Amino acid sequence: MRVLVGTTNPGKLREILQILGEIPGITWLTPRDVPCPAVPETGPTFAANARLKALTIAIATGLPTLAEDSGLEVDALGGAPGVLSARYAGDPPDPAANNRKLLTALAGTTDRRAHFRTVAALALPDGRVWTAEGVLEGTIAEAPRGHGGFGYDPLFIPAGERRTLAEMAPPEKDAISHRRRALDGLRPVMTALGEDG
Ligand code: IMP
Repeated sequence: MRVLVGTTNPGKLREILQILGEIPGITWLTPRDVPCPAVPETGPTFAANARLKALTIAIATGLPTLAEDSGLEVDALGGAPGVLSARYAGDPPDPAANNRKLLTALAGTTDRRAHFRTVAALALPDGRVWTAEGVLEGTIAEAPRGHGGFGYDPLFIPAGERRTLAEMAPPEKDAISHRRRALDGLRPVMTALGEDG
C-alpha cells in the first residue's frame, strides 16, 4: 500500500521518514512524488490542524495520508507560540526571527519550562482518521546553540539533558522527540494497514 507523508516542511519530512523506517507492506510517498494541495492551518488546536491536513490531502489525492501539526508551548508565555509556532515572528516563517522573538519574550524570566507537542494524523480517502499525540518536556536556553534539527531546536533543552536538540545527533533527537512519540502512537494502525495490503 502507498501512503503519502503530507508535509512540505523539509525538517519534518526528514525526521518523519527516518522515524517511520520500514513498515512491511507500506511504500512511503512524499509531496515530491504526488502533487498535494496546500492546506491552511486554520484550526484552534494541533489535533484539529493535523486532522484537517491529513483528511484534505487524502481526499484530494485518493491516497492514505499521514500528516502532523506541531509546535512549542512555553509555560511563562501561557502556552505561546503554540499553534502559531511557525509564524510567531510573522509570515513567511523565519526560524531565526522566531528564536530571537522567543528570547526577547523570555528576557529576565527564570521560569523557562516549555514543551514541544506533535499531533500526527493518518487519514484514509474514505474519511476514517486516527490521531496520536507526543510531547517532549524541556526548557528554553538563554541563547541558541547547535546547528542540527530545525525551527526552535537551537533553543530547546530536553529535560535531563544539557545540550539543545540542535546540538544532538539526528538519531538522538529522533529517539526522544515529540514527533517520535506521536508517530509511535500511530504505528499499530500503520502496521495493520500494511498487513491488509
Ligand atoms: P506547523 O506544524 O507546520 O504549524 O509548524 C510547526 C512549527 O513548530 C515549525 O515550523 C517549527 O517552528 C516548530 N516546530 C515543530 N516541531 C519542531 C521541532 O521538532 N523542532 C523545532 N521546532 C519545531
